[in-house]
Amino acid sequence: MPVTTKIQFFTGNKQFFSVKSGIICTFLGNLNAMNEEFLHYLWNYRLFDNQLKTTCGDPVQLIKPGQHNRDAGPDFFNARLKIGDTLWAGNVEIHVESADWLSHHHDTDKKYDSIILHVVHKDNHPGIKRQNGQLMPTLVIVGHYDEKLYDRYRDFMENLNWIPCENLIADADRLVVNSWLERTLISRLAMKALDIEKQLKENDFNWEETFYQRLARNFGFRLNGENFERLARSLPLKCLAKHKNNLMQIEALLFGQSGLLERGFKDEYGTKLKKEYQFLRKKFNVHPIEGYTWRFLRLRPSNFPTIRIAQFAALINTSSALFSKILETESVYVLKQMFSVEASAYWNEHYVFDKKSVNRRKKLGTNAINLILINTVIPFIFVYGKSRMIDAYRDKALAFLEKVGGERNRIIRHWEKLGMPVESAFQTQALLQLKEEYCDAKRCLDCRIGDHLLRKEN
Ligand code: SF4
Repeated sequence: MPVTTKIQFFTGNKQFFSVKSGIICTFLGNLNAMNEEFLHYLWNYRLFDNQLKTTCGDPVQLIKPGQHNRDAGPDFFNARLKIGDTLWAGNVEIHVESADWLSHHHDTDKKYDSIILHVVHKDNHPGIKRQNGQLMPTLVIVGHYDEKLYDRYRDFMENLNWIPCENLIADADRLVVNSWLERTLISRLAMKALDIEKQLKENDFNWEETFYQRLARNFGFRLNGENFERLARSLPLKCLAKHKNNLMQIEALLFGQSGLLERGFKDEYGTKLKKEYQFLRKKFNVHPIEGYTWRFLRLRPSNFPTIRIAQFAALINTSSALFSKILETESVYVLKQMFSVEASAYWNEHYVFDKKSVNRRKKLGTNAINLILINTVIPFIFVYGKSRMIDAYRDKALAFLEKVGGERNRIIRHWEKLGMPVESAFQTQALLQLKEEYCDAKRCLDCRIGDHLLRKEN
């Protein structure tokens, strides 16, 4: 006789399960310090055999694991499964031990009345009931999954390597690695987008002003970024725009607002800038930041804030509506040209005011330009596309990242040693995000590479 199947959507109010009382079967296996994350992983990827049964002996067929919920409430929403002959749609709760249902106070929480299945590793408290007295269908999963998976996972979690999968990642399938890197890259751009969007809001969605402030931060790089942004915020772009094509006045405004002109000078250059600034400061009613806050120590002279301010002045002087021009640009080469600026002649023989050095032109170098493209220009293009819902800008941002050389730092060098691809900024940015968001937090079960390595046959 054919078996008729009906779907029931559980509401928590009505009887939904025919309990074969007294047939509560439990299988206590070796817990081996099991954790819930691993059980979630098994459930999410359906890594069980097809012999699942409730503790009452009803066969369980997992049709859809549901949506993994990492916040408060049931662990999986809207799962679909068949218990006996009945199809169920609802939420699933997973615990290491069935007694966790009580210790987590689900027995008094209405949210958990709608659970269609309680999945446990060990049923150490048989007969868990809902508030209305109905017996909770319980599935014990010991013996239904490949224990080698858990051994590998424990290996990942217990080793003290730089990243948990350090010994295996070189053997990971390149297709899996590349597709996961694309995903982590999007996640990095989305995080940067949040920051940019917040700043845009503060600036009444003035794209040029916001871009100018973020660009300034980037010119300060790691040690002087914050100061550089304070400088830009203290001097609206419109003040600089009024003196476009007059490099001396642009320099006077930027150096003056940096607080670095609050002293006497021996050289004519410093004296002239100071005099000009005193006039412009009154004109725009602006106030400088504190000059003593700039960091020179532990910086190579070519990265001194004096040189960076002079280069920034050169960029501002030669470009108006910079962000609009960037949006129109279709080539990384043209973008690089835009940022290929050089500090004014005085700085050829100086790294700081009044102190002569060997003659060397102070052009913004390739690495610095790449970092500006990676950290400011390309994320802005991405955010613009997102805010206007124009995919072409998002695609352009990704394409540009593929054409910009990857940055070099300690983390990237380590990834390189592990055989990861580090040629383009697309790859290095994705790897930085992977390390920060997943490896450092040991989220190997949420990582596509982790899933692949755990399931990979040696
Ligand atoms: S999160 Fe992914 S890449 Fe990082 S250590 Fe774990 S498995 Fe490896």
